[in-house]
Amino acid sequence: MSVALPPLADTQLADNQMIARGLRLPDRAFIDGDWAASTNGAVFETINPATGAVLGTLPHCGPEDVDRAVAAARRAFRAGTWSRAAPEARKAALLRLAALIRRDGRDLAVMESLESGKPVTDCLKEITVEVPDIFQWYGELIDKSYGHVAPTDDSACALVVREPIGVVAAVLPWNFPLLMASWKLAPALASGCSMIVKPAEETSLTTLRLAELAIEAGIPAGVLNVVTGPGETTGRLIGQHGDIDAVSFTGSTEVGRLFLQYAGSSNLKTVGLEMGGKSPFIVLDDAALTPDLIDNAVMAAFWNGGQNCSANMRQIVARSRQEEYVDKITRRAAAIVIGDPLDPRTEMGPMISMQHRRRVQGLIDKGVSEGARAMLAPRGEVAALPGSFLSPAVFADLDPMMTIARDEIFGPVLGVLPVDSAARALEIANGTDYGLHATVYTRDIDRALYFARRLACGTVSVNGFTEGDIKTPFGGYRKSGSLARDKGLEAMSQYQQVKTIWLSLTLPAEAGA
Ligand code: NAD
Repeated sequence: MSVALPPLADTQLADNQMIARGLRLPDRAFIDGDWAASTNGAVFETINPATGAVLGTLPHCGPEDVDRAVAAARRAFRAGTWSRAAPEARKAALLRLAALIRRDGRDLAVMESLESGKPVTDCLKEITVEVPDIFQWYGELIDKSYGHVAPTDDSACALVVREPIGVVAAVLPWNFPLLMASWKLAPALASGCSMIVKPAEETSLTTLRLAELAIEAGIPAGVLNVVTGPGETTGRLIGQHGDIDAVSFTGSTEVGRLFLQYAGSSNLKTVGLEMGGKSPFIVLDDAALTPDLIDNAVMAAFWNGGQNCSANMRQIVARSRQEEYVDKITRRAAAIVIGDPLDPRTEMGPMISMQHRRRVQGLIDKGVSEGARAMLAPRGEVAALPGSFLSPAVFADLDPMMTIARDEIFGPVLGVLPVDSAARALEIANGTDYGLHATVYTRDIDRALYFARRLACGTVSVNGFTEGDIKTPFGGYRKSGSLARDKGLEAMSQYQQVKTIWLSLTLPAEAGA
């Protein structure tokens, strides 16, 4: 959610609606370089959450389909046309893919907005700027990554080289569909791996279109396969498959745990996990409550309707400043523009589904029943909208033991926890099983660094809410993630083996002289 969007002409909504009407929506999986129906003909519906309308059907991929996709990926990997291609060739293909995503970015953004309910302005930023930049960044890395020579005496030469891990599966969430896909695909493809991708069943369309663009970019058939279907069937088949070497998963902690079990009961594939969060936003008593801070606080909780793994929902402020803080936050939250995701003025779209809206509403009701002070009445005009829309909720006087202060909500809820000391702020911030992200506001560099080092999480933002950019690793501590990281140079470790080549040398005759 950007701050105070400039007024835009209505024609842009009309343009997006026209693009939406003209879109060719994928209706099949993508296996071995071609579109594929499911072997048994089973399908599931994909829905526009802003209207409830059915956008189309997609294959419910079963065992034969997952086997076919894995076999295609394995064949491609063994053939070596990608896995052993010259670094310059892989780089050129990824740069072409980046250019193709930029070329088709507007269509892809409208497609993603339709299927996910994300505001088109966010989709445009992610898909026309961030996603192609990610493919470009990892593409440019390919011919600049070196192994190393280990120190030995003259009797040996020891090389440490990196190799692609093999066939990699990416299992994705629905909240940032193409962005999460690119966080995994770009470093995996740059490493030379072949892939099976399973988008979330709610948001498959743009990932399918990306697979088609990969062929146009010159990535060989079989290197990038997309299978569609629900997690409990298609996702589980991937997790339990005996010929997948690694899974990179982003989603809930419950399902991440299942992937560890799947690996343990199948071929011990490597599992990289990026999972949920319950991130704090700490405003120390020396920080001025400027409009910028308030905008960041509101964005930290409500961006993407709060359907964000690093949503800073727990906002921790000095008790003496709670009323001023809550007043400012509430006014800004009340002004969030909610409506048609295709309208460029919209700042918040619907929840991903009716079921998810019910779940979030249940947690909001629980907040009230457990004694948190609700500051914002539900909006009548939002309740009247046809899709799975929900009004933002702001709570004051949150107690750390309340359900909404402990459980991941994944919806538009912001809660203010008043504290009497900075030490207590830190204690509450770390008092969670999660550890993905935290923000701290202070004008004091010593306090900023002290908090940054003591906060038990993968990313700390100081004086601004951000998840970093493609150059910085992203991942979680504790139940928010495994040691795996997305983004940055660190992401490559999820997709590469490290090999030692030890050359024993025979000293030549002149050595004895
Ligand atoms: P989810 O765990 O329900 O689903 C994620 C993926 O796993 C989907 O593709 C789904 O089909 C699949 N899946 C579901 N059940 C499965 C099963 N039994 N076996 C195998 N696969 C299964 O998560 P979601 O609802 O799509 O996304 C929301 C969650 O993702 C939140 O918890 C959020 O915090 C997390 N998330 C984390 C990050 C991060 O980088 N840490 C980023 C985005 C989202």
